[in-house]
Amino acid sequence: MLNIHQIKPKRTYTGEKWKSNTSNKKRLAKDFNNRCGYCDDLDTYGGGYNVYHVEHFAPREKFKELQYTYDNLLYSCPYCNISKSNKWVGATSNENILGEEGFIDPCGKEYDDHLKRAVNGRIIYKTSIGFYMYKELKLYLKRHEILYNLEKIRLKRNQLKEKIEIKKNACLDYSILEYTYKELCVLFCEYFDLIFEEDVVHS
Ligand SMILES: [Zn+2]
Repeated sequence: MLNIHQIKPKRTYTGEKWKSNTSNKKRLAKDFNNRCGYCDDLDTYGGGYNVYHVEHFAPREKFKELQYTYDNLLYSCPYCNISKSNKWVGATSNENILGEEGFIDPCGKEYDDHLKRAVNGRIIYKTSIGFYMYKELKLYLKRHEILYNLEKIRLKRNQLKEKIEIKKNACLDYSILEYTYKELCVLFCEYFDLIFEEDVVHS
């Protein structure tokens, strides 16, 4: 079993408080490695930087004073952001858990105790709080599993491309590698199409 994040997100900005989330978003994209804090989907496959949202961990509808507080913000895909909306179990912004319900900040170590990723890419819950997040953030959506695998195929394809170049330069036979490379390209397109089909189903 794996952690959700390929690279753990870490908020590094400690400077002056911005008065707009346009500036915060640039910093967040960097700190979150261009991935959604909750599901780890890479923005490249989900419409890009412009489509991704600045998510308020403690919702701004309830805690207006935290609207631009960097430590309360996350880079998020629209699916997780819209699913979470203004849900919050506590009466104060520090009360993120109440009994067996609530949200855990993805930048914290604790996040990995509640949610994991299976080897096939599916997000799974380990605790009751994990189940709450899984349900409320719709982490069961097939797109998270598909995007994880899409990225894996892309990396393998790149590795293969490098190997082909090495063989080519050394005047060695690379026909088998090229065949596998083409197969991976077909697989990549098939997964990519699945994402569009999924978007049509949910729109
Ligand atoms: Zn997400």
